[in-house]
Parts: sequence; C-alpha cells; structure tokens
Amino acid sequence: MDTKISCPLFNERGRLCMDVLPFVPQGFQTLQFCLTSQYAQCPFFKYVNNPTIYCEYFKNCSICERFVKTEFEAFVELAETWCLSHFRQCARREKRNRGEIPPPNLLPSGDALSE
Ligand code: SF4
Ligand code: SF4
Repeated sequence: MDTKISCPLFNERGRLCMDVLPFVPQGFQTLQFCLTSQYAQCPFFKYVNNPTIYCEYFKNCSICERFVKTEFEAFVELAETWCLSHFRQCARREKRNRGEIPPPNLLPSGDALSE
C-alpha cells in the first residue's frame, strides 16, 4: 500500500469532503483511501471535483448512505457502477423521477437488499 500520498481533502481538520457531502463514513473504512494514492478512486473525491458526472440524487440517496456507513468498499463499487455511470438505468432513480420514494432496501439493479 502506498502511504506517501494522501488525499488533498484529508488534513488535520479531518475529511474536507464532508463539508460538501452529507455522508459521514466510518473513519477506519475510508483510511485506505484517505491516506494513500487510492484517494483518486474515492467517490467523494470524484464528486467534489466534478459533481456533474454523478446522478443528481447522490447527495441524498439512502442506499448510498447505508453502504457508506456499513461497507465502504461496497459503496465504492455501487457508486462506480451506478451513480457515476449507469444512473439512468437505476431502479431507485426511476422511482424518484416518478415522484415515488424508493424502499430503503431497493438496489439500483432492482433487486432487494436482504436485511
Ligand atoms: S479519500 Fe475520500 S473520504 Fe477520504 S478525504 Fe478524500 S474524498 Fe474524503
Ligand atoms: S444512481 Fe441510484 S443509487 Fe446512485 S445516487 Fe442515483 S438514485 Fe441513488
């Protein structure tokens, strides 16, 4: 693991990405991103640098928040696969665009997350 390069948004004040995003990830799960060159793959870093490439619901998506709090690696994969690329096919986004509130366990694929 490269420990010489760290995220420009990580300093003595903490994670500056949190000033922009409402998510509060579990610190220990994000450190491998914050403290290494892997920061470039962090969805928060990408969002802060260019929010226009993301789904418009990213900042207040409950499934993202859920994964951020519990499984940061899984959140990174979800954000890469859906929020940052195939968001037009996301089942949650489709519901929100129809004015509906997606069930908390609805995954972007349309499958249900087992509780
Ligand atoms: S790596 Fe990600 S979580 Fe860590 S400070 Fe940078 S943007 Fe925030
Ligand atoms: S693509 Fe889907 S999961 Fe991602 S932020 Fe948008 S609504 Fe949420």
